[in-house]
Amino acid sequence: MNPDQIETAFQRLRDQEPEPTTELTYNTPFELLIAVILSAQATDVSVNQATSKLYPVANTPQGIIDLGVTKLKSHIKSIGLFNTKAENIIKTCGMLIDLHNGQVPQQRESLEALPGVGRKTANVILNTAFGHSTIAVDTHIFRVSNRTGIAPGKNVIEVEKRLIDRVPRKYQRHAHHWLILLGRYTCVARNPKCKQCLLSDICPSAFQLEAVSTAKSHRQKTTNKRSSSRSKSASTATKKISRNQQKRKSPTAE
Ligand code: SF4
Repeated sequence: MNPDQIETAFQRLRDQEPEPTTELTYNTPFELLIAVILSAQATDVSVNQATSKLYPVANTPQGIIDLGVTKLKSHIKSIGLFNTKAENIIKTCGMLIDLHNGQVPQQRESLEALPGVGRKTANVILNTAFGHSTIAVDTHIFRVSNRTGIAPGKNVIEVEKRLIDRVPRKYQRHAHHWLILLGRYTCVARNPKCKQCLLSDICPSAFQLEAVSTAKSHRQKTTNKRSSSRSKSASTATKKISRNQQKRKSPTAE
């Protein structure tokens, strides 16, 4: 997309959802931090289910430390990688108490120094809890940025740098959530819903991926039909041979 098209794309995304936000449930920066750590390779729905029971019991660094790793694990055991995540959360709570007076720091370096917190998580916290114009690149944003050509790149760092360069400043605060929602509900990994997409007239990939995936599924169905009819013919032939062999063995059978 050229700069005019990028402007148009974000105008439309903003008009559709002026104040987008995370689908993770939280009330404080600390609750958001824990939810984002838990959300790695897990759905927001599963994280919200776990934190809705955890936070009434413990929602501060000291509260989680007092809860202890065993009870913490029992609260989050429905989430993938819960053992590692629980260990990281306990260590993170200890560091927040020792180094940051129990508060979530607003500096990228301090956030990234916390166990279980990488660049993406730090970007989400800075953006969503503290209002910085950072853009965390997850799998949805990586896909959408490449397909639309808003910020093509071979890896997440490349895409993040291009997004910061190419997305007009006035849209950067919410760009993360607009692109994530587009990728999660419309520009999905398989069979993107280009017909419903508000960028379909300016997106260079519009309808191409749908066509490829329809052709693939058609080819797959044809292959399945062929192999099923081949296996039917093979089975009929096998039955015929077997009948003939039986006839030969028992010539008086008829
Ligand atoms: S037009 Fe299709 S490929 Fe392009 S962003 Fe929309 S859903 Fe994705």
